[in-house]
Parts: sequence; C-alpha cells; structure tokens
Amino acid sequence: MLEKREFFEKKLKDIEFALNESTIVAITDEKGIIIEVNQAFCRISQYSQEELIGQDHRILNSGYHLPTFFAGMWKTILRGKVWDGEVRNRAKDGSYYWVKTTIVPFLNDEGRPYQFISIRTDITEQKKVKEQLKESEQLLSTLIDVMPDFVCFKDAEGRWLKANDFALSLYRLQDVAYVGKTDQELLAQAEAQYCMVSDEQTWQQGQVSRVEEVVPQPHGENRTFDVIKVPVFHADGSRKGLVIVGRDITERKRAEGLNEYLAYTDPLTNLPNRRFFEEKLNEMLIQAKEKKEKLAVLYLDLDRFKYVNDILGHAMGDKILQMFSGLLLEIRGPKDFIARLGGDEFTILSPGIQDRNQVVELAKTLIQKLDQPYMIDDYELFIQTSIGISFFPDDGEDDQTIMKYADAALHRAKAEGRNKYRIYNPSIFSETKKTFAIEKELRLAVQKGEFHLHYQPKVDSKTGKISGAEALLRWNHAQWGMISPADFIPLAEDTGIIFSIGEWVMQTACRQSNAWRDQGLPIVPISINVSAKSFMHRDFVTIFKNRLEQWGTSSEQIEIEITESCLLHNPEEIEKTIQKLKAMGVKISLDDFGTGYSSLSYLKKFNMDTLKIDRSFIQDLDDPKVNTITTSIIQIAKGLNMRIVGEGVETLEQLKFLQAHQCEEIQGYLCSRPVSAEEFGKMLESEVCLL
Ligand code: C2E
Ligand code: CA
Ligand code: CA
Repeated sequence: MLEKREFFEKKLKDIEFALNESTIVAITDEKGIIIEVNQAFCRISQYSQEELIGQDHRILNSGYHLPTFFAGMWKTILRGKVWDGEVRNRAKDGSYYWVKTTIVPFLNDEGRPYQFISIRTDITEQKKVKEQLKESEQLLSTLIDVMPDFVCFKDAEGRWLKANDFALSLYRLQDVAYVGKTDQELLAQAEAQYCMVSDEQTWQQGQVSRVEEVVPQPHGENRTFDVIKVPVFHADGSRKGLVIVGRDITERKRAEGLNEYLAYTDPLTNLPNRRFFEEKLNEMLIQAKEKKEKLAVLYLDLDRFKYVNDILGHAMGDKILQMFSGLLLEIRGPKDFIARLGGDEFTILSPGIQDRNQVVELAKTLIQKLDQPYMIDDYELFIQTSIGISFFPDDGEDDQTIMKYADAALHRAKAEGRNKYRIYNPSIFSETKKTFAIEKELRLAVQKGEFHLHYQPKVDSKTGKISGAEALLRWNHAQWGMISPADFIPLAEDTGIIFSIGEWVMQTACRQSNAWRDQGLPIVPISINVSAKSFMHRDFVTIFKNRLEQWGTSSEQIEIEITESCLLHNPEEIEKTIQKLKAMGVKISLDDFGTGYSSLSYLKKFNMDTLKIDRSFIQDLDDPKVNTITTSIIQIAKGLNMRIVGEGVETLEQLKFLQAHQCEEIQGYLCSRPVSAEEFGKMLESEVCLL
C-alpha cells in the first residue's frame, strides 16, 4: 500500500511538474474513491487531503448536473477514453465552483481502467461571466420584446442575429428561421415581407443614420417607420454589426398629411389656398422659363360679393363661393391650376399658352357661363366676375410683378363696370390712378357743392300733365365737367360715399319741394333714388323721417325708388322698413323692374305702390317676346293694384303701347329730358302739357 502511495505521489509530482500549480489534480480508483489530491484541489474544495482521501468523489457533488451527465462520463472513462466536461462542484462550506475537467483513465495490462486522474481548472469566474451574460441577454430580449418599436440586430454581412417580436410580426418572420439569413434570403421566403434597403448607406456614412421606411401590410395599408440604424465597428475599424430600431409613425404621418392638406387647402371650396398658389406660381414660372413657354395668370374677383354677403348673409355667400369654384373647375383646361386666394378672390394659372387668345376665350367662356341666373335657396342670383389677366414673360418675369399686373388689370375691369376681363397693359396704372383720383374728388364733391339734382317729369299718360318728378343726381366737376351717375354711383356704393351723397339728395329734394310749394306751384311728388346700401341701413327710416320733419316736408312730397336688390336680404326686416314708410304715408316704387332678380313673387310680398318698367323693355317693344313679357308684367302689377310707370319713353309707338295697356304714368325724352330745378319750376308754373 505504501509502495503504491509512493508510486502515486511520484506520479503526481510528475504531473504537477508538467502542469502549473494552479491545476487541480485528483486520482481515484476505478470506483471513484479518491486516492490522491494535490494542494490546489484542497484549496478549491476547502477539504484537507486527509478529509478527501478515501472518500467517494461524489463528496463534491453539487446536485446541479442531471444523473445522465455522470452516466455519460462513466460510460466514456470505463471504456478507457478521456472525458472532458465542465462540472459544478460543491466546496466544504457549501459554496459552488466550476471546474473544467479532463479525466484520463489509467489502464492495466488487460486494457481496463484501474485508476482515473482528473485534471481540473477553475472556471468559476468565466462561468459567472457567462451566466451573467446569459442573464442580461434574457433581460435584453425581454426588454426588446416589450418595446413598442421594432428592433433588429444584424452582423457585418447583413445577416439577422436577433429581432424582437415586433420586428418578426411586422416582417411576418414569426415562423421563419431567420437567424443567420440576409434580407435577400428572407425576401425569398414567401411569407417574409421585407424592405430594409438602406443598411449599406449607413455603413458608408459610418454613423447613426435615420431613414423613413414604408412597410406594406398584408391588408393593404402601409405603415411608416422612423428607423434609426446604428453601425457598430470593431476596434480596428472593421464592421461588426448593425442595430436597427424602428418606430411606427404612421399616425403621425397621417396627421402631418392632414395638416399639410389643411395648410394648403381652402376648407370652404376644397381648392388650393393662397399658400399653395404662391408655391405653384413659382414652380410654374420656373417650368415656363425652362420650356420657354407663356404662362397666364387670371385674377378673378366676384362682383359685388361683399354686398351679397352682407345682404344675404354668410351662409348664402359661402354657397356662392362654392358654386363659383365648381364652375371654375368645370371650365378650366387640363393643365390649369385653380386656387382661392381668400374672400371672393380666385386665380387660374394657365401654363403652356401658345396664343393669348386662348386665355381670352377662357375668360369669355367664364363670363358667358355666368350669364344666367343661379337658383340658391329661393333666390335667383346673378353672379358676375371681373377678371384681370397678365402674362409671363410678356408682362413680367417674377411672381410679384405678374401678380401685381394681374391685380391692376382686375381693378381696371372692375372700374370699367364689372363683369369684364381686362388684359394688363402699361396704361392700366394711369387709368387706375384716375379711379383713385375720382374717389378722392367724389369725397369732396358734397362740400364743394359740385352736386346738383336734375328733375325729370313723370307725366300722366291720359292728360299729359306733370304728375311727378324723378330727382336725378348730377356731378359737375370743376375740371372734368359733367359726370354721369352711372359712372360714379357704383364707386360711391363701393366706397361707402353713397351714404353722405344719399343724405344730400334727400335734403336737397326736400328743400326743393318746399321751395316750389312755398312759391304756390302745384305740388307734385319728387321721387328720389335710394341705393340698396342706404335702404338696407337700419337707421334709414329714422334718418328719412328726421329729414322730413327738419325741413317741414310732408310725406306726400317725397317718394322713394328702390331696386330689386334691396329686397333680397333679410326680407322680414325690409318688409318692416317698407311698412314703416308706408305708415308714414311715403310711396315706394320698384325701379328698373326686369333687369335684376325679377322675381314676380317679390311684387306680391312687398306690396309696393308703383312699378317702374325698365327702359330696356320699352325700347325693345318691337320684339314680340319683349312685348309679351311687358304686357304680362303690366297685367300682374295691375292685379296687385300697383301703379305703373313706363321709363325711357322716346317714341309715340312706345307711348301708344303704354296708353293702350292703361299704364298710368310715363317718363322719357319724349316728354322731357331731366332738367334743372329752375326749368322744372317753370314747367310746373306753366302747367304744360307734355304729350
Ligand atoms: P334710373 O333711376 O333708372 O334713372 C333713369 C335714367 O334714365 C336717368 O339716367 C335718365 O336720365 C335716363 N332716362 C330718362 N328718360 C330716358 C329716355 O327716354 N331715354 C334714355 N336713353 N334715357 C332716359 P341718369 O340720370 O344718367 O341716371 C342713371 C342712373 O343713376 C339712374 O337710373 C339711377 O339708378 C342712378 N341715379 C341717378 N341719380 C341718383 C341718386 O340720386 N341716387 C342714387 N342712388 N342713384 C341715382
Ligand atoms: Ca329711378
Ligand atoms: Ca329706372
């Protein structure tokens, strides 16, 4: 036995010599009973040699390994083979340590193992690190799986290493063995939707990059991802791997899309708005320059829209704008761009113009299309537009100039009586300056005493005697001479100067009527023309009443002529105004009947005293159609107990027609032109017969 022990000790010395002293060595017999251990073994196991020798090697068992583990070991070494493995042992104090173990069997002459030498190295630290690594790996994959973003790691060659659940379901890779595969390989798999294309770009840039990627979804809807790619390099600068994280920004994109839509669209008409227009104009100008083409800008503004809007209300105004935008879309050419700049201003950009006439045709078509009444709610409305046109490059090279000129042309079209188009030419500015000058002069005209009233007799169609007078405004400008009311009344209405002019007319007519009365002349009513704007003013009745009282004028002396446009807005209020005036004993005539909205239902509703048939009907009585219409208008008015005045009577035929139809009064050059107050006074005095 001692011999044997010496033998082993020597053997061990040899082995220790061969191995470094940290190597843990033990020798067991064929059953696993420990025969010898070295110091390193004692150190790590915390047992002394005495405690170990003679013990079963299982004294060190930690209970960690499954029985099959050791069974496999025994099977190997009993066959005389070397066994390698990592074993967890328990030290004397109950703590664990890991050893990398090699067991070498010593064989007897028959080739059967009679002893085993185990050589171990302490790998506890390594194992710990590995376990920690495994743990943190588990933590990481738990973490990335709960993340609301997709996460994926790839190696330097673009092979997938790991992806979180989100990524797998997004790319439909749940049931695909994706690890180690490249995008291309995955794309080849029928179920894998894959579209990461910009990896190489990230590598090239060598830094964190950000891209938007759109991933199509099985049910058609695309989802957009904000993808961050982080390239990771080895210390030597070679590629190591790529970390890819993508956040679903589909909703944000959608909101951005909506915002963009809202930022560039006019919500009322759904047309592009001013901002969109400005960008488009610049874009089209660049293209026109490149292609050496002409571009036309049509600047449109609805006539008297503000007035309709004020009178008929915003809801009606909105409908008109919508209808108008529909019409623009209908008539535009395939390449034309239409926008609403705001309010009642619209534009058409027409690129690739060969011939200026093309644009003129477009403008004419539009004006013509509008030349019919539109039924909106119960109103029959005439919508008209004025159009200013300018051309690139003829009129200017840049957006501002082109727009300025289109605007100037538009102003001219308006100043020239609306419902017109004007093409820019350099003289427009001087013409426009003139309009401003007129406005300025118009404001001063009352103070300067440049206004006069002329009086045109209304004549009894049976007797030829003067039955009334219509006061007609005259503006005798110091330098410009006589200016027709048709030329300045629209401007006065637009600028609001009409209120002071209207008051002036009212008081002048009152004073004139008083003067004739005081001279003992026959009293005939003077009718004054009241513009719709004034009539609609809520203080109109008060102002009118005050004026009559102030001048001691009776209500029979002054009559009022209004046009149909007065009746459109807020009919209840207008009806009240009319009732109040009638209660005061003031007579009201409906002027220019047939030229405006011509609704016979108004006649009934508003119960006015007199109907004035417009000059245009009287002058076209030769036309059988006009003749029939005029006859029926007269009949309807008669049925409503209205007096009838025929306007603009110039010929005997016209007179006879009106007499034959029992039209009570006539007015026109046939009897008398409008004359000065003085002359009219003389006519009253002489009691002339004007027929
Ligand atoms: P209106 O109220 O229809 O006035 C009748 C117009 O017809 C007057 O033109 C008159 O001179 C013209 N006229 C009368 N008989 C004949 C005729 O036989 N043949 C022809 N060709 N014309 C005839 P005027 O004075 O130039 O006035 C034009 C318009 O200006 C008026 O049309 C009226 O709407 C407006 N106006 C005139 N004075 C005033 C005013 O004091 N206030 C307002 N708000 N408008 C006025
Ligand atoms: Ca009139
Ligand atoms: Ca008239």
